[in-house]
Amino acid sequence: MTHQDLRQLYIDELKDLYSAENQMVKALPKMAKAASSEELRSAFLEHLEETKGQVERLETIFDALEESPKGKKCAGMEGLVKEGSENISEYEEEVLDAALIGAAQRVEHYEIAGYGTVIAFAELLGENQQVSLLQETLQEEKTADEKLTELSKDINVAAEHPSAQMSEGKGKRKAGRAA
Ligand code: FE
Ligand code: ZN
Ligand code: FE
Repeated sequence: MTHQDLRQLYIDELKDLYSAENQMVKALPKMAKAASSEELRSAFLEHLEETKGQVERLETIFDALEESPKGKKCAGMEGLVKEGSENISEYEEEVLDAALIGAAQRVEHYEIAGYGTVIAFAELLGENQQVSLLQETLQEEKTADEKLTELSKDINVAAEHPSAQMSEGKGKRKAGRAA
């Protein structure tokens, strides 16, 4: 593979991530709205703010590369979002929360794989500033994933015993659930 080819692949992968992150900017508010646990809801909203910053980092990188971030739709993220929204229509309350965590962790792992790939390419291409920016995002994705694992411990137990009150209190119930 020539250097030029790897640069093109790098740009294509960045475009894919740009699409993926923008899809999550739209999906995370719906996931937050669907969550019953206050802690889970605020975790989604915090990650929404981080995700907006991740979009900006990608824009910074595209500026430096003098390329457009547009032109690709991440079909992988589209599928993950679609599966996640199917959960929202099929489950309720604590069980839905457990399902939302499962869906969100799939998204984080998908992003972690994508950023790992572009970081390796950026390193080879000598784009050190871009490596740093991408590593910041990768770290946020890993931290988000760990936070979800932490939250799942109580939420999965609550999902197994749906009648028990969750430690955070009742949280939001069925009203206002995203479709
Ligand atoms: Fe992200
Ligand atoms: Zn993709
Ligand atoms: Fe993420």
